[in-house]
Amino acid sequence: MNYRVLLYYHYTTIEDPAAFAQEHLQHCKDLGLKGRILVAGEGINGTVSGTVEQTNTYMEMMKNNPLFDGIVFKIDETEGHTFKKMHVRPRPELVNLSLEDDINPHEITGEHLSPADFFEQMQREDTVVLDVRNTYEYDVGHFRGAIRPEVETFRDTPQWVRENRHLFEGKRVLTYCTGGIRCEKFSGWLKREGFEDVAQLHGGIATYGKDPVAKGQLWDGQMYVFDERLTVPINQVEHVIVGKDHFDGTPCERYINCANPECNKQILASEENEAKHLGGCTIECTKHERNRYIVKHGLSAEHVQAAIAQLETELQA
Ligand SMILES: [Zn+2]
Repeated sequence: MNYRVLLYYHYTTIEDPAAFAQEHLQHCKDLGLKGRILVAGEGINGTVSGTVEQTNTYMEMMKNNPLFDGIVFKIDETEGHTFKKMHVRPRPELVNLSLEDDINPHEITGEHLSPADFFEQMQREDTVVLDVRNTYEYDVGHFRGAIRPEVETFRDTPQWVRENRHLFEGKRVLTYCTGGIRCEKFSGWLKREGFEDVAQLHGGIATYGKDPVAKGQLWDGQMYVFDERLTVPINQVEHVIVGKDHFDGTPCERYINCANPECNKQILASEENEAKHLGGCTIECTKHERNRYIVKHGLSAEHVQAAIAQLETELQA
């Protein structure tokens, strides 16, 4: 079966996001789609998976709605669904920058750059490239030399930029994110903050990786995605691994969730290290009474005790 993943957003005014979300969920379920869609007064942002026919019908439906005039879908081919369920959730905003006075990208935003222009301009001397995603997204893949804000989540990025203005002053600032939605707002915020020369990668990394000119070049690692695939390739020319194993720092692009259901932290780990640590991101998580790795692999009490003893010996060494 041929399946697809659609990634899309559109800034537009939705009068009653809660009612819209409810109705939209029903449409999606009727079509047989799975995925995650956010709806806010400022627009829509979604990733959905389905068969070619289901996704075609959905795109047709959206394009025929005047609210979404000009909406662009990024399409990936897949083997099957990349989500387990279908969710459509109303939210106060699509992109949370924790601003008192939020940005409307229709009023202020950075210059839009095609992938080919972005590829050319990111190599210029007077240019800095700023990754406006979360650090866990950056760590498995990013543009070569891009600035990684030292923040827990995207919404802390404005504060970080204010504290590190010197990195950007007098430079042309290029921003990028997965599909472009975060840049629409963030580049607008940068301009409002007084940075004059700001541009954004139009269509995001997802578009860049498919562009016939850019060919994903100067992208190192993989792109993190918010569905069951977890990561997808971008650079069509070369593959440089930048991800590091959580336990030993060796090159790694394999994401797992910590086996402690109360932690659930996403980490990069080889199969070998995952087995050695019984899926726990720390010794505390390994020892958690509801460790999912132990249950899933049906490990005996002896095996678990021996593994923990080994880890504790190494910690003391
Ligand atoms: Zn953990």
